[in-house]
Amino acid sequence: MTDKSSFKLTYSTMFNPPEELHTHFAEAMEAQKQKLGQEIPMFIAGEERFSTEKNKQVSPINTDLHLITYQRGSIQDAEDAIAAARKAFPGWSQMYWDERVYLLRKTADLIDQRLFEIGVAVTLEVGKNRMESLGDVAETAELIRYACDQMEANRGYRARMGKDPLVGFDSSNTSVLKPYGVWAVISPFNYPPALTGGPVGAALVAGNTVVIKPASNTVWSPSILVDCLRQAGIPDGVVNFVTGPGSTVGKTIVESKDIGGITFTGSYDVGMGIFHSFAQGDYVRPVILELGGKNPAIVSKHANLDDAAIGIVRSAFGLQGQKCSACSRVFVEAEVHDALVARMVELARTLKVGDPAERDTYMGPVINRAAYEDYQSFTAELKAAGKILTGGEVITEGEYARGYFCQPTIAVEVPLEHRLWKHEMFLPIVMVHAARDLSEAMNLANSTKYGLTAGFYGTEDEVGWFYDHIEAGVVYANRPQGATTGAWPGYQPFGGRKGSGSTGKNSGGLYYLPLYMQEQIRNQVRRF
Ligand code: NAP
Repeated sequence: MTDKSSFKLTYSTMFNPPEELHTHFAEAMEAQKQKLGQEIPMFIAGEERFSTEKNKQVSPINTDLHLITYQRGSIQDAEDAIAAARKAFPGWSQMYWDERVYLLRKTADLIDQRLFEIGVAVTLEVGKNRMESLGDVAETAELIRYACDQMEANRGYRARMGKDPLVGFDSSNTSVLKPYGVWAVISPFNYPPALTGGPVGAALVAGNTVVIKPASNTVWSPSILVDCLRQAGIPDGVVNFVTGPGSTVGKTIVESKDIGGITFTGSYDVGMGIFHSFAQGDYVRPVILELGGKNPAIVSKHANLDDAAIGIVRSAFGLQGQKCSACSRVFVEAEVHDALVARMVELARTLKVGDPAERDTYMGPVINRAAYEDYQSFTAELKAAGKILTGGEVITEGEYARGYFCQPTIAVEVPLEHRLWKHEMFLPIVMVHAARDLSEAMNLANSTKYGLTAGFYGTEDEVGWFYDHIEAGVVYANRPQGATTGAWPGYQPFGGRKGSGSTGKNSGGLYYLPLYMQEQIRNQVRRF
């Protein structure tokens, strides 16, 4: 058992946590269950806002479980949130940067203090298992702290530049990074705290004010995050929280000329739509897109197949395959195909699918009815085109009857022309192909529009070749903890290239925070 005093929760360490994490989680679950059904307001200009139309958020574990009622915000609410953020910008941006760092660090501490409360909300609303949920919350605090660390390490991004070589004058130059204004953060359902809190933390530390719109399936945990920001003492109007459909509230935010920059994390199609629509302003504004993935693992005939099998199974089926970094394609050298697949099937069959609140559950439900129906149609297609070695069915009996539970699925012998080799399914389905050699495996791995994460199992020499040729933003080698998943701020900053991300700079990394700021060079000349 891990020594609890030295235990640091990350996605790599979560497989063997100290016992007290389980105890606290169970206690928090009981406490949260007493509060189910509460109404969650929006938060605009420092005030709670209620709308006439409301939506019920239910749990994918059991759709009879009414988690919260949230506001179905209007276009006017979105416009008010933007106006409030605009009004608060001068005060917040002119504050000393170390005061902002202080308030954001305080927010991160409050998130840590509420780790179990927020973790329970994530489990109930996303269907994420308990350690993944706690990881999501811990990562949120770490992302915010990382932004603070970077601001401090770069002393607020103020740097002296060279002096002009003028005779008779002293001509000094200073580089200053300054915020853009109102920053929009639109987040997806799968990491509601981290993918809301990470961008919000960076935008705020940089001096922007924010308008947040969470995914409609997962409003609860981001609302607690907003509560932490309020509790930390962030001034009114600096953080605004609007809820409601992407097609109305989200669209209003994206189309507003008063938004200075945006971070959108979500699907490729919505993200590309946002990219085009955001370009309709009078000038170019920054748009940070973190989009989908179709992440491959390549396995050489020299690989340790036990490590490869467990790494792939963890990455393919963790969070029910609904991670942008999930492993959905495996290209293995033909000589070891059967041996690898046999191990993967054996491991997949040991994974417990069920109530994600229970400590031994690995896979909870998928997020909603649309995903559940997609699973059924994708597995039918795969059965027709190739072979399913394990899984392929939804689970409907007994305790599973009111939720969206799907079996972990491994498909082989699917022709390479099949559309599902390129389509992000975002479900617990992994497809395996026996490649002629590593070169064919690499060509296939790179043959999608995505480039988020990738994994490799093989010798050290082969690893170097893999790094040089793979088109992905986060790449792992010989990792049993996860073939393509498990990034952590400050360790493996997270981001993609090609259709997976727009900036080429990874969040939780060295080059991320400056994306939220623009440079001003200040020159001043004095006569001697
Ligand atoms: P999604 O359907 O694209 O939704 C993401 C967010 O966009 C939600 O808040 C949604 O609101 C909003 N939205 C929808 N239509 C909009 C519009 N026209 N204008 C403005 N906002 C709009 O994605 P999802 O299903 O929540 O998340 C899964 C996707 O996210 C996958 O593709 C996954 O790979 C990707 N992802 C990427 C990363 C990364 O770091 N690269 C991380 C996590 C997830 P509603 O919920 O109200 O529709």
